[in-house]
Amino acid sequence: MKDVRVRFAPSPTGSLHIGGVRTALYNYLFAKKYHGKFIIRIEDTDQNRFVANAEQYIYDSLEWLGIKADESVIEGGPYFPYKQSERKDIYKKYANELLEKGLAYYAFDTNEELELIRTKQKESGENNFQYNAATRMSLRNSLSLSKGEVNRLIQMGTPYVVRLKVPAKEEIRLFDLIRGWVMVHSSTLDDKVLMKSDGLPTYHLANVVDDYLMKISHVIRGEEWLPSAPTHVLLYKSFGWEADMPQFAHLPLLLKPGGDGKLSKRDGEMLGFPVFPLQWRDKETQKLIPGFKEEGYLPEALINFLAFLGWNPGTEEEIFSLDELIEAFSIERIGKSGTKFDINKAKWFNQFYLHKKDPSYFTEEFKKILDPAGLWNGGIKLNLWVKLVQERSTFESEMVLEIKNLISKIEAFDQSLIDSKWNIDAKNGLKEFSEQLALLNEITAEEAKTLLNKILETQNTKPGKVLQILRVSLTGKGAGPDLMTIIELLGPQEISKRIIHFINRFPLSMD
Ligand code: GLU
Repeated sequence: MKDVRVRFAPSPTGSLHIGGVRTALYNYLFAKKYHGKFIIRIEDTDQNRFVANAEQYIYDSLEWLGIKADESVIEGGPYFPYKQSERKDIYKKYANELLEKGLAYYAFDTNEELELIRTKQKESGENNFQYNAATRMSLRNSLSLSKGEVNRLIQMGTPYVVRLKVPAKEEIRLFDLIRGWVMVHSSTLDDKVLMKSDGLPTYHLANVVDDYLMKISHVIRGEEWLPSAPTHVLLYKSFGWEADMPQFAHLPLLLKPGGDGKLSKRDGEMLGFPVFPLQWRDKETQKLIPGFKEEGYLPEALINFLAFLGWNPGTEEEIFSLDELIEAFSIERIGKSGTKFDINKAKWFNQFYLHKKDPSYFTEEFKKILDPAGLWNGGIKLNLWVKLVQERSTFESEMVLEIKNLISKIEAFDQSLIDSKWNIDAKNGLKEFSEQLALLNEITAEEAKTLLNKILETQNTKPGKVLQILRVSLTGKGAGPDLMTIIELLGPQEISKRIIHFINRFPLSMD
């Protein structure tokens, strides 16, 4: 294999959709697997669709995920510049080369003229209009007009575009590493515009010229670009670069959760899950749409999730770090058919990685809530606090919320449990427990358990009869994290107070 050089070539026209992130990831994994280079190239030649902060958003998103470029606008590299708007002269030169070779031509047709032809064709029930070998001689271009007329038009400053002269009858074949052979007849292709009237190249020209100049070995991109690939193959041929043509791999589409069509930017909002890596302010609605990061997903979870959206390792194993993915990745194991976007799977990965986090990871967030409540104590019990809620949560925010609930005043007590479990035996047990606790400044979970059991044994009450109502008295609820750990963490004084408050608030009828 020649030196692997792959590129992620986003257009900064809006936020980076999660499908784009997957494309970046697959390129990155492929590059690293073969000790090649991963390049980010900004394709910003469409000035009408330019969005100011979109480029920075791309860098921020990839940085958050740990997908590092070897060459880019920021990193630099031997094929600088990596932003197409800074390479205008290069494209002009190559467009001129094709014009000179007679493989491209000037076209002077205005948008209005072309629109009129399209409408007429539609009205007469003919197939969609194509600008190609069959029609170009009846249109206004340097092939149909005399040389003199062409020169005159150009000198007058008449706006023109440069179009690729697609051969009339030619079978275009390209081998896609995921799809196999793709065959297209040239008669179905348009004479694509290569240079627009504003002097800027179109995607097709800039993309091919840059892939060639940047020595790209493999083009790994979304399936939506497959229809453009035959035009690109023709361009390589026209330039005489066939021997250096990259190999193509068009990734399967990401589908809506139900499988009914392509996952769109709007789906996230409608279905209540993120489709962007980071938060993004919608240009039209001005609404700030949270991304995976703001929704609490860990970067390693998102990476693992995205890797599996279209690829699988061929084993049952699902948990892969970025390094393990690099090791395991192969284009052969990318599927052809679209992949359903299942947010529950993303949650499953997040839960897995959250549970693996070292307690110290949560220091900052936990300190923020425990310190004001006087429960931080220099963080000596951080491990215990974390252990209490970590295993029960999918997101860090759930852990924080659970702790907040535990340390704050109880808003409501589970009435149905009070009705069924609150009785004189329970009350005697709780009362004695609270009195004993009131004498202490500290107690471990283990000691609390022993103390309670001893009291209940003396009173001849089964622990099963008391434990749930004790929990209700301490948390308001009938279920939750480990009760004895809660007692240790909130401390005997606070626990004693809570029990007394409960006893006073819910007097038994015989009291
Ligand atoms: N600029 C194109 C995009 O926005 C790149 C497509 C390609 O990778 O060739 O996705």
